[in-house]
Amino acid sequence: MGQENGSFDLAVLGGGPGGYVAAIRAAQLGLKVVVIERAELGGICTNWGCIPTKALLRTAEIMATLREGEELGILADNLRIDFVRVVARSRAVADNQRKGVTFLLKKNKIAYLPGTGTLAPGPDGRPRLLCKGNEVVAQHVILATGARPKTLAGIEPDGDRVITYFEAMSLPVQPRSLVVIGAGAIGIEFAYFYNAIGTQVAVIEALPRVLPAEDEEISTLVERSLRKQGIAIFTGARVGGLERGEGQVTVRLIDDKGQQREAAGERLLSAVGVRGNVEELGLEACGVATERGFIKVDEWYRALSSAGAPVPGVYAIGDVIGGALLAHKASAEGIACVEKIAGVPEREIRRVNYSAMPGATFCRPEVASMGLTEEKARAQGLDIKVGRFPFRVSGKGQASGETEGLVKTIVDARTGEILGAHIVGGTASDMIATLTLARSAELTATEVLHTVHAHPTFSEVMKGSIEAAYGEAIDL
Ligand code: NAD
Repeated sequence: MGQENGSFDLAVLGGGPGGYVAAIRAAQLGLKVVVIERAELGGICTNWGCIPTKALLRTAEIMATLREGEELGILADNLRIDFVRVVARSRAVADNQRKGVTFLLKKNKIAYLPGTGTLAPGPDGRPRLLCKGNEVVAQHVILATGARPKTLAGIEPDGDRVITYFEAMSLPVQPRSLVVIGAGAIGIEFAYFYNAIGTQVAVIEALPRVLPAEDEEISTLVERSLRKQGIAIFTGARVGGLERGEGQVTVRLIDDKGQQREAAGERLLSAVGVRGNVEELGLEACGVATERGFIKVDEWYRALSSAGAPVPGVYAIGDVIGGALLAHKASAEGIACVEKIAGVPEREIRRVNYSAMPGATFCRPEVASMGLTEEKARAQGLDIKVGRFPFRVSGKGQASGETEGLVKTIVDARTGEILGAHIVGGTASDMIATLTLARSAELTATEVLHTVHAHPTFSEVMKGSIEAAYGEAIDL
């Protein structure tokens, strides 16, 4: 590939987990790369998402554990939260991670251009790339511009009383009360965090259950647990209106029984989903099509025109192409995309297996899943076996006081294919890796059963769930 002065093999727009990972993989494969980023390297994940929220959630987890400490023989009085320190630590963790990304770009000799990249029609039908009025010469351009919070009419964030996750993770003072609209991953993680540190929390969700994308049984267990922890939850609710008063926001809603209700808080977090950052990219002028606000791509992440033809030299990955809006999905797409660009033989390319894509919500009990839910498997008419194994039965669960939840596995009754796995409790977000590995390596359930799992561990619960699917659970 050409590496003339000032020109690049690949330009990546966006330095988040999609963009920076794509850039590094491209550099490993010998491409000359530039990353263009208008905000902070590391993107939302590093700066305002996955990483800083996990720092906050660690505080919540320790606080909740200490509150229940008596059972474990820990007597603690006067437990308090130093909110300023909690937020400062979370910001410091994010800063460190961002510095890590900056270092990695340097280490891989990747050029970094702060600014906004825009495509413009080129003379030969190949879009040109501009940044701050200058042309950036690149043979290939990957759009990895991510997503931002969606706003709902009437609940527009004002950065003060009505906030998005940006403010929710960097408030100067802990709110005494918080209303969360939306019970997806963002809404539930913040509801859990604030409730665990002593804020009074109410969650309003339009659909009939929290974490509505999860298996119904899992959602039900999570909801029950969060209610037990003290969070007020309104599901199947319709927001009727919002009053922004002095120091308080009041949401009027109609609950699932048609009753008029109110939820009030010092702040309101709007967590009703995200939308792709497709604006200001020059997409229309270059013939790149969007569908429901996300860039259309083919199986190799080539951006498509409305007629379905690849637009020469333009690719898109991560949140901006839709699907599961997850950092690890973006990274995986980035790797597959640049391996194709760099000419790696197709059979060696790390294609993304979307049917084995893990997802996790980091509340307590933790939630993680991959593949089909029971409802989806049944709707597809599949002949399935469903296994369940509760943490309360496991020695590790009992010993660690982590008895809530279960592992549920969905297995194809004929072939033993692991179609889906759903975990609530234990170390769900780590445990799911075994099942995604099993699925992506096309192991059958029987092969998992042939694998010895260490005792006593949470991973045994996963194995127990597959045993249960075959009616062979030893400990049930
Ligand atoms: P989401 O789409 O997962 O959840 C939004 C929720 O808001 C939905 O349940 C929806 O039914 C509800 N909603 C929409 N309009 C509403 C209304 N008018 N009234 C009440 N409820 C309403 O989106 P999110 O939680 O904002 O997260 C954004 C994206 O980021 C998601 O794709 C999510 O998976 C991802 N994310 C993942 C993690 C993680 O993996 N731990 C963490 C954060 C975000």
